[in-house]
Amino acid sequence: MPDTDPEEKTVKRTQRPVTYRCEWCGQESTELRYPGPPPHYHAACKTPAQNSIARNRMQAWRERNRQQQQLPPPRDYINHNR
Ligand SMILES: [Zn+2]
Repeated sequence: MPDTDPEEKTVKRTQRPVTYRCEWCGQESTELRYPGPPPHYHAACKTPAQNSIARNRMQAWRERNRQQQQLPPPRDYINHNR
């Protein structure tokens, strides 16, 4: 059995310049990348952006959690407002 995959030779994995806009700092950038979807962030912006997303998600989750734990208003309070 040959130790090289014939498909590995025909499929060339070449990098091409891809222009994309970083969602974190909003600046367009051109990078040599393998074919595929362009990145959302610069390499340098990825970490702060992901930290921020994680923080926002956590905040939204805490907000939702707090609201769900609140007791519904008493029935006569609702009637008073009608
Ligand atoms: Zn950026």
